[in-house]
Amino acid sequence: MNFDLTEERQMLQDSLRRYLRDKYSTATRNEILESAAGMSTDVWAQLAELGVIGALFTEEQGGFGGAGFDIAVVFEELGRAGVVEPFMDSALIGGRILAACDKSDLVEEMIGGGLQLAVAHGEPTSRYDLSHVRTSVDGGKLNGRKAVVMNAEMADHLIVSARTSGDVADEAGISLYLVAKDAPGLTIQGYPLLAGGRAAEVTLDGVEGELLSEDGFAVLSDVIALATTAQCAETLGAMDTATRLTNDYLGTRKQFGRPIGTFQALAHRMADMLIEMEQARSAVINAAGNLNEETRIRDLNISAAKNLLGRAGRLIAEEAIQMHGGIAMTQEYELAHIAKRITMADHRFGDTDHHLERFIALSAA
Ligand SMILES: Cc1cc2nc3c(=O)[nH]c(=O)nc-3n(C[C@H](O)[C@H](O)[C@H](O)COP(=O)(O)OP(=O)(O)OC[C@H]3O[C@@H](n4cnc5c(N)ncnc54)[C@H](O)[C@@H]3O)c2cc1C
Repeated sequence: MNFDLTEERQMLQDSLRRYLRDKYSTATRNEILESAAGMSTDVWAQLAELGVIGALFTEEQGGFGGAGFDIAVVFEELGRAGVVEPFMDSALIGGRILAACDKSDLVEEMIGGGLQLAVAHGEPTSRYDLSHVRTSVDGGKLNGRKAVVMNAEMADHLIVSARTSGDVADEAGISLYLVAKDAPGLTIQGYPLLAGGRAAEVTLDGVEGELLSEDGFAVLSDVIALATTAQCAETLGAMDTATRLTNDYLGTRKQFGRPIGTFQALAHRMADMLIEMEQARSAVINAAGNLNEETRIRDLNISAAKNLLGRAGRLIAEEAIQMHGGIAMTQEYELAHIAKRITMADHRFGDTDHHLERFIALSAA
């Protein structure tokens, strides 16, 4: 496998990294977090203009990337800077569902930065089970409850999964609907998330929607495979920042007349972090490079990566905070945001234990 980025991807990485370094400081992020929207529409528009959203879609879909490595490059940079804008939920998950359902007009709007989406799929007891859908369709109207719907308050449309047939955990019988934000019967109760951004509990009481797909499970499982890889890349970026900040701190904080990083006890811990980073980077490359393989091989590699990122991320977040002597819990310090981000990333799209179990099941299949 060639580990070097193509020229286009290198340019995307450079321009995105430069923009975020110059424009997305901890103070800026804190301001965004304290705002009612929980995101900056200016940052969204500027990143769309830089091509960040277009890179998540293939040329046939109207973008100029869309492969695993394009997605990994974008999300690693977003993670490195701790960006809270909903590129994962609105642009990648929402946008790629619309692209899979041939809604090219809306995809075009998304790539231009003029659309916000939310995907209302998870329900109060579904945990990491993608096929768990209790929300029902009666006479063409949607009824049910969706939990932790990211970006729901800012979304122009919600993509809602609902069951047309089968039992609650069946893969067959799940349809996807496009629901306007102001549809009668739709209730959105929002709240801030620990790692930034906002989510909502969504209630559907006789809500009308436009049918997008009757094969909802297949669409969702492909898009969630992309999103899980993106989540691994985002965590890798965040881990890199945590490692860099810790290395800087060990080089500047002095005790007994010398930088604390020169003491062997801490140097060894720093070395462990750097080794974990290399392992994690390889796992992300492996997941991104296997996205177009048959489903079992794809998911096996994704589960291997998500499990490893969960373990390595936890070690790095905890070591970074400990070696900073606890000051890294301060909201004004970048590491506080990054550590929360790494911690919460493990709980999205299946945690460390979930992916270990899935890896074992897929290996035995
Ligand atoms: C992960 C981590 C690791 C750390 N490791 C170390 C370490 O190894 N060595 C070290 O020296 N330091 C370490 N620290 C830092 C150390 O915990 C803090 O420096 C220390 O706790 C600060 O003490 P404080 O009294 O200023 O504030 P706090 O720890 O915040 O204590 C305030 C206490 O006062 C109580 N309190 C507040 N207001 C009132 C009130 N009005 N009435 C009654 N009670 C009140 C609170 O409930 C709290 O119990 C670490 C911190 C963290 C987060």
